[in-house]
Amino acid sequence: MKEGIHPAYELTTATCACGKIFEVGSVRKDIKVEICSACHPFFTGKQKLVDTAGRIERFKKKYAKFQDSADK
Ligand SMILES: [Zn+2]
Repeated sequence: MKEGIHPAYELTTATCACGKIFEVGSVRKDIKVEICSACHPFFTGKQKLVDTAGRIERFKKKYAKFQDSADK
């Protein structure tokens, strides 16, 4: 490798949406990920909703309104 033209590849921390922080080798710093081996259903063996944008909350509110009006 030529020196001086390659970005430094070094250990940095990746932070997952579940709160787990792990070290990875990368040229970037402070990586954010939404899913990792600690919270992915494939690894945890259980279903878990990953709702980073609050979409499910909004849907529930909307659906609650719909049910209220349907009861009357
Ligand atoms: Zn995770």
